[in-house]
Amino acid sequence: MARPGYMIPMLLGKLTKKPVTVMYPFEKLDPAPGLRGKIKFYTERCIGCGICAKDCPTGACYMVDIPNPVDKKKKTPEFDLDMCAFCGQCEESCPKDAIKLTDDYELAHFKRGELIIK
Ligand code: SF4
Ligand code: SF4
Repeated sequence: MARPGYMIPMLLGKLTKKPVTVMYPFEKLDPAPGLRGKIKFYTERCIGCGICAKDCPTGACYMVDIPNPVDKKKKTPEFDLDMCAFCGQCEESCPKDAIKLTDDYELAHFKRGELIIK
């Protein structure tokens, strides 16, 4: 059986320690190394090959009828982060380094479609 009052010294000890939580969003912790967050798309590097869309497991990456900036006859990908699993497959598959998953984890938004990366 626990000693009566054994929690009191423990509680007093906690009062003098810094809290492990932070006052988000006013204070922010550094993202963990390797975090896969918001996608950054470098349009100018894209050749419109479509491998990213083909390899995306969720359909979050798809080709749209916007002429590719490098080859006007080809399409351009878009990324709908509402469907994205942040798996990083598109980044890995892209032969031109046109996709990067950044460490930006602040993706809250009010309406569907607000997080489409073009
Ligand atoms: S990170 Fe994964 S789920 Fe998201 S767009 Fe890329 S391949 Fe698709
Ligand atoms: S894989 Fe890379 S180069 Fe090919 S369409 Fe996707 S972003 Fe563009």
